Amino acid sequence: MEYLDYIETILDRKDILSSNFNQKFCSDWTHIYKFKPLAVAFPRNTEQVSNLVKASKKFNIPIVPMSGNTGLVGGTFAENSLIISLEKMNSIIKINKGSNLVSVEAGVILSDLHSELSKHNLSFPVTFGARGSAMIGGILSSNAGGSNVLKYGNSRDLCLGIEVVLPDGRILNMMSELHKDNSGLDLKNLLIGSEGTLGIITKAILKIFPTPKNFFTAMICLNENQDPLNILRKVENKLGKEVEAFEYMPAFYVKEFYRLFPKKVKLFDRYHDINILLEVASNSDVMNDEDNSGTSILKNHLEEILSSFLDENLLEDVLIAQNDSQRKSMWEIREAAAEITVSRKPVVITDVSLPLDSVSNFINLVNKKLDHVEKQAPSTFVSHLGDGNVHYWVWPKNDDKLLHDNIVEIIEGIVYDLKGSFSAEHGIGIAKLNSMKRRKDNTAVDVMLAIKNALDPTNIMNPGKVFPKV
Ligand SMILES: Cc1cc2nc3c(=O)[nH]c(=O)nc-3n(C[C@H](O)[C@H](O)[C@H](O)COP(=O)(O)OP(=O)(O)OC[C@H]3O[C@@H](n4cnc5c(N)ncnc54)[C@H](O)[C@@H]3O)c2cc1C
Repeated sequence: MEYLDYIETILDRKDILSSNFNQKFCSDWTHIYKFKPLAVAFPRNTEQVSNLVKASKKFNIPIVPMSGNTGLVGGTFAENSLIISLEKMNSIIKINKGSNLVSVEAGVILSDLHSELSKHNLSFPVTFGARGSAMIGGILSSNAGGSNVLKYGNSRDLCLGIEVVLPDGRILNMMSELHKDNSGLDLKNLLIGSEGTLGIITKAILKIFPTPKNFFTAMICLNENQDPLNILRKVENKLGKEVEAFEYMPAFYVKEFYRLFPKKVKLFDRYHDINILLEVASNSDVMNDEDNSGTSILKNHLEEILSSFLDENLLEDVLIAQNDSQRKSMWEIREAAAEITVSRKPVVITDVSLPLDSVSNFINLVNKKLDHVEKQAPSTFVSHLGDGNVHYWVWPKNDDKLLHDNIVEIIEGIVYDLKGSFSAEHGIGIAKLNSMKRRKDNTAVDVMLAIKNALDPTNIMNPGKVFPKV
């Protein structure tokens, strides 16, 4: 029996697509990677995923797991492969309010989870611009970060349990609700962030939190010679763990936003070199209590701090959002980063992680060194400064591969010297394979390969991604 006939014995015919693939199944989000899959399967439960994997192993057909397909490193490239789409496994299984946990199937879309939890005044803190499409399986597989890592950690920190289908089709049930479990190697955390190369995540148990009663959001513009990290520390000294986001955008980034979205109302009447989106929130009653004028204690504190910064000449300007619509306008600027990145082609994209006190140094060094390489190449960045993550990208004049490699090499060389990492939150996929080869410790790569070979000796699970030598 042919492979496609065989998988029709596993799934209903309407859950298999073997021609007329729509755009989502032929290209990644950036449109840098184009492909033609063999077929797309839409399993409805874990047993079907397991049987599809067993069939693909039997026929030696490569498998590419796909969730929202919003990844930025070509991880869903699926030439001649079976795409296993998780989109029909999209149930929120159980909200456990007592334990502050939610169990979900892997195909739940992030914004759907947010909406459902909000009905119970609960929230799952991972959030980023692609939340309307990205799904829990993809988010965990790429250990996504986002804008709230500063307060809550990344996806790995927010997940207690997962269920996974291994490359031989066995189901590994690690749907644990335990906060402590030292019974051997930590397989859950090995699978999270493995980008679909070690198995397919089918279910997860995630940590949830009471929704903050209020959010206070401000765009603060620092004086040129101020280090944003000092400002963050000063705010934290006053407000402690209430800082949810601290996102850094330079003037050229903001200009690019208004170039792309010219109808958006400008926040300030001129461009500032250092713009920080600062958000604080608390679910504690004490912080949300109101004074005689009806203003919450937290907002009062924030206003006091920002006004003292103005007095000390640390800031050029500041705007505190007065309502949800102003808050949304501020976040729109920050969350347009991915659209801005791909709005000009060609583009060289990096996503680097640095020790927090090296971020400003990194930006100065990169700006200086890149100037020698590409005099007229515009470049800009955006940074989750609170966790040391910088997305720095360059739009070179042409598609010359050597030039692109040179740009990456310069940026990653600086990162290496500053003891950072060439991949902060987007993962490796295909896009960072060269960086893995050049920059990752050889012994670490050998150990990773040994694990990959042990779990997937025939290399059918998302081949060609993450591991430089397989
Ligand atoms: C506008 C925009 C903003 C973004 N902002 C951020 C941000 O702030 N922070 C951040 O970290 N990332 C960000 N990203 C990228 C981010 O990594 C992805 O959006 C998200 O984590 C991937 O989820 P997805 O469901 O789209 O996964 P996909 O793109 O479908 O898959 C991603 C990888 O995981 C694998 N995979 C998918 N599902 C599974 C599964 N169930 N089991 C095993 N492997 C699987 C795929 O094979 C692929 O390798 C952004 C992307 C966009 C487009």
